[in-house]
Amino acid sequence: MLIAGGGVAAIETVLALRAASGGVAFDVTVLAPGRDLVYRPLSVGEPFGRPLLKRYALDAICADLGATLVHDVLGAVDGYRKTVTTGSGIELGYDALVVATGARATESLPNAFTFFADTDPEDFQWIVREVEEGVTRTIAFVVPLTSGWPLPLYELALMTAERAWAVGAGDVAFTLVTPEDSPLAIFQGAGSHAVARLLGVAGIEVESNTYAHDYDGRVVRLSPGDRRLAADRVVALPSLSGPDIAGLPLDANRFVRVDDHGRVPGLDGVYAVGDATTFAIKQGGIAAQQADAVAALIARGSDVDAARQPAPRPHLRAILLTGRDPLYLTATITGGESITSNASRDCPWWPPHKIAARHLAPYLADHEQRGAAPVLDLHRG
Ligand SMILES: Cc1cc2nc3c(=O)[nH]c(=O)nc-3n(C[C@H](O)[C@H](O)[C@H](O)COP(=O)(O)OP(=O)(O)OC[C@H]3O[C@@H](n4cnc5c(N)ncnc54)[C@H](O)[C@@H]3O)c2cc1C
Repeated sequence: MLIAGGGVAAIETVLALRAASGGVAFDVTVLAPGRDLVYRPLSVGEPFGRPLLKRYALDAICADLGATLVHDVLGAVDGYRKTVTTGSGIELGYDALVVATGARATESLPNAFTFFADTDPEDFQWIVREVEEGVTRTIAFVVPLTSGWPLPLYELALMTAERAWAVGAGDVAFTLVTPEDSPLAIFQGAGSHAVARLLGVAGIEVESNTYAHDYDGRVVRLSPGDRRLAADRVVALPSLSGPDIAGLPLDANRFVRVDDHGRVPGLDGVYAVGDATTFAIKQGGIAAQQADAVAALIARGSDVDAARQPAPRPHLRAILLTGRDPLYLTATITGGESITSNASRDCPWWPPHKIAARHLAPYLADHEQRGAAPVLDLHRG
């Protein structure tokens, strides 16, 4: 079994396969270019002196799970011969292939500050400092059309506004610009209302159903209506596109096409999970659920029956960092929309990790406790 990727979806697949296989040993190879599993959600807290972006050594994880780690990239898939070609030209065979290579992030609005997960926290710290010192009086936070998961931007806006309030920096105009029709619209209903209330209390104006298409360093141009918003600083999330792997069916944004069960159409034994796929929500918890579903199919030995089973309903769990107490959000998703959502001040799941992954979250918690998988500080370690 070949798993391409070394992130949340890939390692959750390995863990879920072990759990679902009932003692049957799978020969698992993990194909990943980097040395670490990068746990990105905490990166937004770094500029505010909160927990650091974490990395877990992949060789330690793979050794622990009995998987072979190959440091290379998935270049192309030959579904007929059931082989892949890696970036360095090596050919590897597979019975089952799981593509978990994540998405590509690129700048979404020129002249804005783009918050990438591996952004040096000091780069954002100076924006916060300018707000604190009153140098920046107007600041806009911009969600692009193809962000996949806008929550980190809400966190940055809320934490910056909280910091401004804490140091008594009055008179700063905060605006959040988003194409969503309400704040964190994927939690439509109770969750989105709770987020709207938080933004209101923090003094953050929301321009919903709005797209920022240009920023010249002073003014953001907004569509529809070609409105103008003055902004000394603009912070934006990157746009996401797919991994663009040859031999796989891709959509216009190069994401890998999958059916509701994570199978790649037309390619026997090929699956894709996580941010690499056409599924619209690019979130770690969702990636993990997709990985669990695919691992269960593979462990069963045949996925022919799967088409007759109802597709699993994704369940969203998210922690919104606010600068004060976090807000815990949940929603059940059907047809890309939430049908029930909830917000609470207590975490309804365990362990209370930002990425609520059934197997990975307790595994990482356990490893941290045992000190078995080193946790490194990306920017200092
Ligand atoms: C700032 C920020 C905050 C976030 N907050 C949250 C949160 O609070 N909760 C939450 O659930 N999610 C959050 N997310 C989203 C979450 O991090 C992603 O959805 C999740 O990491 C997706 O997992 P993945 O395994 O699909 O992709 P990734 O984690 O991106 O992993 C992809 C892996 O594939 C490797 N790779 C890339 N190309 C190739 C190739 N060609 N061949 C082989 N390997 C390849 C990469 O090196 C990497 O190891 C956040 C994201 C960001 C950026």
